[in-house]
Parts: sequence; C-alpha cells; structure tokens
Amino acid sequence: MTASLNSKMFNIDKVRADFPILHQEVNGSPLVYLDSAATTQKPQAVIDAITQYYSGYNSNVHRGAHSLADKATYVFENSRKQVAAFINSPSVNQVLWTRGTTESINLVAQSWGQTNIGEGDEILVSALEHHANIVPWQILAEQKGAKVIPIPLDSAGDIDQGAFESLLSERVKLLAISHVSNALGSVNPVADMIAKAKAYGAVTLVDGAQAVAHLPVDVQQLGCDFYVFSGHKLFGPTGVGVLWGQEALLESMPPYQSGGEMIDTVSFDGTTFNGLPFKFEAGTPHIEGVVGLGAGIEYLNALDRDAVKRHEDDLMAYTIEQSEACDGLVRIGQAKHQAGAFSFLLNGAHPSDIGMLLDQQGIAVRTGHHCAQPLMNTLAIPGTVRASFSLYNNRDDIDRLFAGLAKAKQFLL
Ligand code: PMP
Repeated sequence: MTASLNSKMFNIDKVRADFPILHQEVNGSPLVYLDSAATTQKPQAVIDAITQYYSGYNSNVHRGAHSLADKATYVFENSRKQVAAFINSPSVNQVLWTRGTTESINLVAQSWGQTNIGEGDEILVSALEHHANIVPWQILAEQKGAKVIPIPLDSAGDIDQGAFESLLSERVKLLAISHVSNALGSVNPVADMIAKAKAYGAVTLVDGAQAVAHLPVDVQQLGCDFYVFSGHKLFGPTGVGVLWGQEALLESMPPYQSGGEMIDTVSFDGTTFNGLPFKFEAGTPHIEGVVGLGAGIEYLNALDRDAVKRHEDDLMAYTIEQSEACDGLVRIGQAKHQAGAFSFLLNGAHPSDIGMLLDQQGIAVRTGHHCAQPLMNTLAIPGTVRASFSLYNNRDDIDRLFAGLAKAKQFLL
C-alpha cells in the first residue's frame, strides 16, 4: 500500500471527542450545537493552551526582563506568525491584534477613513452586511459628508453583480464586503469584486468573520487591502481578532488608540510612534486570547482541510435535502455557494418560537435578525431561524434538527 502524502486526517468521531462542551445534556437531551456562526466551540487544545499560559508563564509581553515574560512574548508573537501563515500574509508585521472583527473595522474606519474619505465620496457595502460592516462606515460618512451605498441582492440572496458594476465609479473610495454572509451563508465572489473595485482605484476591505473557519483564505490571492476576522469564530477565545492590511496603507495610517506599547519615544515636546504592527496595539494586549487563537489555528492546521471542507459541504447538502422534505419550511437565501449557515422560516411562525421549541429539545440555533437588519428589511421578514455548522457537527445533528422541527410543528398548529 502506498503511504498517503498527506498525513493529516479528519475523523469526525475523533474531532467531536476533542470538544468537551459537546458531550453534555441540555434540557434533558444530548446537546446539538448549531450556532457556530455566533461563536465556535473550543477544542481541548485551546482550553489547555490558555490554562498553561495562566498556570505556567503568565506575564506581560514585550517589556519583560525575565524568563516568564520571554516565554509569554515568544508564544504571543508566534501566534502572529501562525495567523500570517494561515492567511498567507507576505509579512508578519501586517497582522495586527484587535478585539475582533468589529474593532478591526472601526480601526480602519477611524484611522484610514478619517484621512482618506472626504465630501461626496462613496463607500459601497452589500445589502447583506453585518451591522459591524455598516455602522462604522455610516458614522464615518456622517463625519465626512460621504455616502454609504448598499449593493442590492438578487432573489437568491447573492450580491447582484450587474448592480455592483453599475455602482462603480471614481467616486467609490471603498468597497467593504463580507466574504461569507452570517445571516444566509452566501459565499460572495470577493476576489472578482475586489479586482473590479480596484480598477476604479477603490480600497477594499473583506469581513472574513464567517469565512476563516470554513474556507482557505489567501489575502494575496484575494488582492484585498484589508481582511478582518474574530478569534472566537475560529476555535479561539472571545475578545481577540485580527486586522490584516497592506503594509504601505498601514504605514500611512495614523494610530487608532494611543498610550503604551505603540510609541517609540515620548517627551513633552512630542511623541514618535512605534513601527508595525505595534503602532496599532496600544496598551497591554489580550495575551491569553492571542495564545488561544494560535492554538485554535494549530488545531485546524493539524486536520486535513480538504476533508473538513468536504465534510462541511456534505452537511450543507444534507441539510438542504432534508429541508426540501420538511413541510412548511421556507429556505431564506439560496445562494449558489453557501457555507456554514442555513436560514429558514417554518409554518409562518415567529423565529424565536421555533428557537425556544428547539432549545427545549437540547438543540441550539440562533433566531432573529442576526445583526443584519437592512437584509431582513430587504427580505421583508422580521428574522430567520439559523442553523450554523462547524467541523464538529455530523449528520446526526441535522437529523435531530429536523426531528426537532417536526415536534415543534405540533405546538405551532
Ligand atoms: N461580521 C460578520 C459577518 C459576523 O458574522 C460577525 C459576528 N456575528 C461580525 C462581523 C462581528 O464580529 P465580532 O462580534 O466578533 O466583532
């Protein structure tokens, strides 16, 4: 037998065993966790990495003159290298730590935006964006007399590419779009859209919050100027995230917050700033979060990513197939390519009633507008029920979801 060149494996039973939280009963039934788009669960390796940090080498980073601080700094900076490799950044200095996707976008809006957006400029976002990729641009536009323009969707929930092209002009200074929609799971053709926007000289930002755990991300291949994501949707802790940017842009941008760490020299005559990435990392960072995020990436890297993708695609296809046999279920969003999230309504019931009836059976889903109120307004619905998957879900989870919905229907009649 020839040995496989790819020694990485994906065994769903082993993967499930790596996530301790999955093995418990909720409301008297074994937990089915279908809310990974809100936050992913954490493998034991991430929990252990955080415990080891606090029990073995808790110290502040960069400034220490002792061995524990050296170790903390080493692990902290090693996580940055892991992120750089994970998204194929040309340089590690282009990876900045933030509190998450939301803070990364606010940083770009208030640092790059304040200096580069002016009166009459246009910022294009899609109609399916998360509020985190709308509101910071609205605030900036208000401050600068610019306009935020939504790119409409087609009836399937894909971004209308014809409409996008007709909105492009020299007035467009920024295109800010999600790689994958958190509400509908649509995978957007971001590389293509970036190339078109760049032809008009626009700067481009991709919100990768929902993409990083499902798709390979290569910032060089995408050609974007900024790529942002949160650690907690990538098997890491909450409160830590990443802003990746083109080096020349980051160099040209003023600091976002100021204080310790981000300076070179300080005197009452003036202050000079540190270089990248530290210029944007004022104050003591979320060291435990960075350590845990590095461990989350290491966990994912140790798996056969192609097999993970096939597994997740199978879960999505199986869910769609089961949904077609479920009377009264209306799929919300039927994008050509869907990853991670499946949104629906059932028997015209309010999504929160469905969520509650599923929760009583130990099935965790998300209901509501999913921080995408403009999208819900476009679809003329108050919200959806969203089942979202990760690599640790299996077909049994989907069977439990549909059995749960069948039971829920009895209470809705
Ligand atoms: N964008 C998208 C597409 C998201 O799904 C989320 C989280 N639901 C965010 C932005 C905001 O992420 P965070 O709350 O981690 O900053």
